[in-house]
Amino acid sequence: MSAVYNFCAGPAMLPAPVMVKAQSEFINWNNTGCSVMELSHRSKEFMAVASKAESDLRQLMCIPDNYKVLFCHGGGRGQFSAVPLNLLPKNKSADYVVTGAWSKAAALEAANFGQINTINVVEELNGKRQIQDPAQWSLSPEAAYVHYCPNETVDGLELFEIPESHGVPLVADLSSTILSREIDVSKFGLIYAGAQKNIGPSGLTIVIVRDDLLGNAHISTPCILNYQTEADNGSMYNTPPTYAWYLAGLVFEWLHSVGGVKAIQKINKEKAELIYRYVDSSSFYRNDIVPQHRSLMNVPFWLNDESLNNAFLSQAEDAGLLALAGHRMVGGMRASIYNAMPIEGVQKLVEFMHEFEKENS
Ligand SMILES: *Cc1c(COP(=O)(O)O)cnc(C)c1O
Repeated sequence: MSAVYNFCAGPAMLPAPVMVKAQSEFINWNNTGCSVMELSHRSKEFMAVASKAESDLRQLMCIPDNYKVLFCHGGGRGQFSAVPLNLLPKNKSADYVVTGAWSKAAALEAANFGQINTINVVEELNGKRQIQDPAQWSLSPEAAYVHYCPNETVDGLELFEIPESHGVPLVADLSSTILSREIDVSKFGLIYAGAQKNIGPSGLTIVIVRDDLLGNAHISTPCILNYQTEADNGSMYNTPPTYAWYLAGLVFEWLHSVGGVKAIQKINKEKAELIYRYVDSSSFYRNDIVPQHRSLMNVPFWLNDESLNNAFLSQAEDAGLLALAGHRMVGGMRASIYNAMPIEGVQKLVEFMHEFEKENS
């Protein structure tokens, strides 16, 4: 089988060395005669796997000691509910900054649990989309927290600077940003991320929460969504997604082995630039986002002649380039190029785009 490159937005491809290692240990992990997924989550063997994964993640992201790292269920959307349940008192409101589909969905869900203030910050300038300067956002100084999404997975818009929230806790959905570039965790009150983009398989969600934000959950908060309960129980109040946790640990080890976040950030920039540079040089394809807000992880592009979309997708698949269709809400194409996508995959995509352009223009 020749190499196949999977550009799926999530669940996304995993690093090849991680898959090989997981396969080699699948039915006999560490000479226990069992698979990791068959071990008790409270066994000393699994506890060691769990705490190694946490300490590797802490190192990779330089997470300060006054933050808890929780390994939860429920995906990114589970956190859309957990955040207001834990952080939004009845007598306050929260600011939700909307830059695209995911931050909008987070705001809609939060409105089920409390009072929220939605702030749209996407602007259009000469046919290009951009994010309004965060200094201009109309944030409320009294808000319980400010929620935003640095990388909009569907729309392909990314905000690289961290907004100044003047002491109001900053909450961020990093589902498609985490580990792709260096992030100063100390600027945030809470960070969460579904695993299936840059961490591991779906079914696991990472929450990084500052200690002072624990302990104020609504009385009706389900225990499995209560950060204090999860923190008090080492993320094992109920059975955690153990196999996903183990695989996440392997991904963190792999990321260390390739030089950590700083090194992968450099490669991620090169990968994204290869596609954007080609799209900008071509009159066959286009991208409508200003260069400073273009996502490193999710690169949307459109064929100017949309009637060629199906031919593009089926010929790409024949060439081993999978899952390039844009999200059903926005159409066009999208190349998701998370950490596990090697630069060779991106080079092959750009060559294919070039060939397709030559044959069809
Ligand atoms: C994928 C994604 C989600 C949704 O995650 P689920 O695990 O499917 O709930 C939320 N936010 C962002 C930014 C995402 O990319």
